[in-house]
Amino acid sequence: MSCVANLMDNDAMPALPPYSIRVSLRAKRLQMKILPPGKIEVVVPKYCHLKHVPAFVAEHRQWLQFYLGKMIAVYAEQPLLPTSIHFQAIDETWQVDYVEQLHCQVTVLTTDRLQLCGPSAPFACQALLQWLQQRARQVLPDWLVQVSADIGLGFNRLTVRGQKTRWGSCSAQKNISLNRALLFVSPGAVRYLMVHELCHTLHLNHSAAYWALVADKMPEYEVYEAELRQAMSIIPLWAQPGFGD
Ligand SMILES: [Zn+2]
Repeated sequence: MSCVANLMDNDAMPALPPYSIRVSLRAKRLQMKILPPGKIEVVVPKYCHLKHVPAFVAEHRQWLQFYLGKMIAVYAEQPLLPTSIHFQAIDETWQVDYVEQLHCQVTVLTTDRLQLCGPSAPFACQALLQWLQQRARQVLPDWLVQVSADIGLGFNRLTVRGQKTRWGSCSAQKNISLNRALLFVSPGAVRYLMVHELCHTLHLNHSAAYWALVADKMPEYEVYEAELRQAMSIIPLWAQPGFGD
């Protein structure tokens, strides 16, 4: 469940930015997150009444100001709105035209040109993230099917997500999940990540037997393992899923 609330402050205090509320079945306590690009999300445990949220946000006013300030400083160094986007994985470059308007949306103008609309950078980037998700969903499933056939290891279902700290995962049910940000890494690294997850369908661990299987399916895997370890830092700010939490 998700909804958007605006905290009505009293006159003595400066107004807080808007925040969204997410009710979580798993959360044990009220939490606050700053999601890029400057969006505040309050995670509310299921048992907790929503009436407690405004006071919680007000209580964390200083924390919010500190991290929002920090985020603005980071963005000042790297402009949030990209003028071009390069997907190394599929050797695709998009030029981005930004149009300031109230409604957020991404329009594909030609095969290498996007129009990005939104009232300001943070909001426009939300639309861009959705477009990234869509593009990854168009590209990654067929690629995984191909790699799966190449190395003779099947899987059950694929989900494309915006994980914060991992490139992919594989469950005991052989369900694989891949990070949409894989579009920013090299094609070899994408293939390696797919081999990595597919090998987990036989070994749900990182044992010696597991790594022997990976090496058998992709002998040069170590180069790409090293690339992926560094690659979270090359993801542009607008495409990063979490900040400040
Ligand atoms: Zn693994």
